[in-house]
Amino acid sequence: MFCNVIVTRPFDQVFTYKLQKGYVVEKGSIVNVPFGKSKKQIGMVVNIFNNLSSNINYEIKEIQDVFESITLSNDIIKFIQWISDYTLSPVGLVLKLFLLNEKIINFKIDEIKKNHFSPTKVSLNQDQKKASTLIKKLLFKKSTPIVLEGVTGSGKTEVFFEIIESIIYKKQQILIMVPEISLTPQLESRFLKRFGFLPDIWHSKISEKKRKIVWHQAYTGQPMIVIGARSSLFLPFKKLGLIVVDEEHDASYKQEDIIRYQARDLAIVRAKIDNATIILSSATPSLETQNNINKNKYKHVFLSSQYSGLELPPIKLIDLKKNKLDKNKWISNIIYKELENCLEKKEQALLFLNRRGYSPLSLCIECGYRYQCEQCTSWLVMHNEKKRLLCHHCGSIYPIEPKCPKCLTEDSIKLIGPGVERLQEELKLLFPKKSIGIMSSDNANTPNKIKAIIDDFENKKIDILVATQIMAKGYDFPNLSFVGVIDADTGLLGGDMRAIERTYNLLQQVSGRAGRSKQRGKVFIQTYFPEQPVIKSLQRRDRKTFVEQSLKDREEFLIPPFGFMTAIIISSSSKTKTEMYGRALVQSVKPPENINILGPVEAPIFLLRGQYRYRLLIKGNSRKLLNNFTKFLLKKCPTPTSLRLVVDVDPYSFM
Ligand code: ADP
Ligand code: ZN
Repeated sequence: MFCNVIVTRPFDQVFTYKLQKGYVVEKGSIVNVPFGKSKKQIGMVVNIFNNLSSNINYEIKEIQDVFESITLSNDIIKFIQWISDYTLSPVGLVLKLFLLNEKIINFKIDEIKKNHFSPTKVSLNQDQKKASTLIKKLLFKKSTPIVLEGVTGSGKTEVFFEIIESIIYKKQQILIMVPEISLTPQLESRFLKRFGFLPDIWHSKISEKKRKIVWHQAYTGQPMIVIGARSSLFLPFKKLGLIVVDEEHDASYKQEDIIRYQARDLAIVRAKIDNATIILSSATPSLETQNNINKNKYKHVFLSSQYSGLELPPIKLIDLKKNKLDKNKWISNIIYKELENCLEKKEQALLFLNRRGYSPLSLCIECGYRYQCEQCTSWLVMHNEKKRLLCHHCGSIYPIEPKCPKCLTEDSIKLIGPGVERLQEELKLLFPKKSIGIMSSDNANTPNKIKAIIDDFENKKIDILVATQIMAKGYDFPNLSFVGVIDADTGLLGGDMRAIERTYNLLQQVSGRAGRSKQRGKVFIQTYFPEQPVIKSLQRRDRKTFVEQSLKDREEFLIPPFGFMTAIIISSSSKTKTEMYGRALVQSVKPPENINILGPVEAPIFLLRGQYRYRLLIKGNSRKLLNNFTKFLLKKCPTPTSLRLVVDVDPYSFM
C-alpha cells in the first residue's frame, strides 16, 4: 500500500510513501516520514492506494511512525486546504499551524478536565435581552455570522456570556478569540465569576504542558471553553458550537508572520465548515464587517447605551492653536485642570498617547544628525527606563553616546516629541504626590506584568495611567472618569485609509473607557485641526457619518471591501538583485484586463534588519482571479533562492 502525504514543510504538493505491514492509516492520519535530510517529519495522509503508476523512477521511502490516536477530521482538512488556497501559502505550512510539533501530538491525555459549571444568573437589561433573544433565534441558522455591536460599556460581554451558557448546556466546544494576549486575564476572571470555572487559555506564551492538554482536550470533542489568540483557531476542535470574535475590528487579528492571514476572516470560514455559530463583537465594527451588514450577509444586533445607564462621556476638543503648549510640554492647561479636578474627587484618569518610549526622534542640535538604525529605515527611539536608543522595527538597542557620532560635539543630543515616558515625567512634575503609571508593550509584555498593571489601576494604586493602544481595548475600570488624548492628529490625518480607520476606532474605544459605571466621564482630545471632518465626527460620536464616508471613499478607489488586493514583498541583502527580480516579475506576465500591478517600488521601510525591501501591489475585482493570477506570476518567474518573497493577501500594512 502507498499513501500520499502532506508534509509540514513549505510545499504545496503531496509526497508518496510506502506503508509498512501492520500499519493502518486513513485519510487524515498523522504520520512521521523521512523527508530530505530529516529522518522524521510530521505529515498527514491524504489518500491511500494500492498500485504506483508505472513511470515512477525514484525510490519510494517508508512511513516511519503512525500516531494512531490522531486523525484529523474532514472538516479540518477542508479548512486547511481553504487557508492554503486563500492565503497562497504552501499547504504544508498551513498543516504545521495545526500540528505544531511532535511533542504536542505524541501525548496521551490521561484525565479529561471536567468543568464544575455553576453559573451566576445575571439579569440582562432590555437592550441586552433583546439582543440575546435575537441571537438565540439565530443559533439555528448557523451559516449567518452575527455582529454584536454595542457602544463601549453597553454590556456586550454579558450578552455573549448568555449565549455561551446556552451552548454549554448543549455540551459543545466554545472558542472566544481575543486580539491580544493582554485581554485574557480580565476576561478570564469575569468568566470565572459568571460560570464558576476557569476557561482554558491558548496563546504563544502558555507552557508546553498546558498546550498539550488543551490541544488533546479539543481533539476529544469534550465540552470546553478556550479563550485564545489568533492561533487558537487551529486547535483540532471536534465539536465546535460557537466562536466569539471579541473586538473583531482589531488589526491584531491580522497575522503577519510566515503565513499571513486575517484570523477573524478565517474564524468565519471555520464556523461555516464546522457548522458552528459565530458572533463578531465590537463597539467599532470594521468597515469590511459593516459592508457585510449592509449587504445583509451578516445579521446585526445593537446595544445603544451603556449598561450603567450613564450617558457616554461628552468629547471635548482642545484646539492647540489657541491653547498653546509650553516648550517641551505636551499637556495643555485645560487637561491639567481636569486632571486636578478628577484626582481631587479621588477618581482616576487615563492619558492616551500611542507612542512608546521617551521621544520618537533624537537629533544632534549642532549638525542635525538624526539617530537612525543601521539595519532599518527608521529613527531610533529614546527609552529612558532602559537608558537606551531602540529601533522599533528590529529591536536593535544602541547605547546613548556622550558625543554626536557625526560631528563629535559633546552632549548635543536633543529629544524631539513625546512618548509615554516623557508624559509620565511631565505628570510627575505636575502631580508630585500622585502615582503615575505607564502601560505600553515595553512594560506590559507578559500576561503577568499586564495583570499587575491592571490590578494596580483597578485597586487605585495608580492615579493617572499613561498608555498606548494596548490599553484602549476592552478594559473596564469603574473608577476611571477622565480620558485625555494627547495627540489626535498624527493618526487621524496622516495615514492611509486603514490607518485612519484604526485610529478612529482606537480613539472611540479609548473615549469609552471613562465613566462606565459610577459617574459620567469626560474625554478631552488635543488637536491642531478641530475643524477636520474626521475629528468632528469623532467628537460628535457620529460614527455613522464616518463609516458611510469611508465606505464611499473605498468604493470609489476600489479599495477593500470593494476591490481585492494582494501585496508581494521581496527582500534580500542585495539592493540591485531585489530590484531586478521585482522588475522581472512584473514584466514576466501581461496582466489580464481587470488586474493591475503597481510597483515594484521601494517599501516605506526600505531597509529592515539589513534587508532591502521592494513592494508590489496587485489589484483586481475578484479574489479568485487575483489568486490565480498571482500563482501564475510566481510560477512564471520563480524567486531566486537568495531572495525572500512574501505574499500578503488582503494586506493591512503597506510598510
Ligand atoms: P462592553 O463589553 O460592551 O464594553 P461590558 O460587558 O464590559 O461592556 O459591561 C460594562 C460593565 O457593565 C461591566 O462592569 C459589566 O460587568 C456591567 N454589566 C453589563 N451588563 C450587566 C448586567 N446585565 N448585569 C450586571 N452588570 C452588567
Ligand atoms: Zn532596526
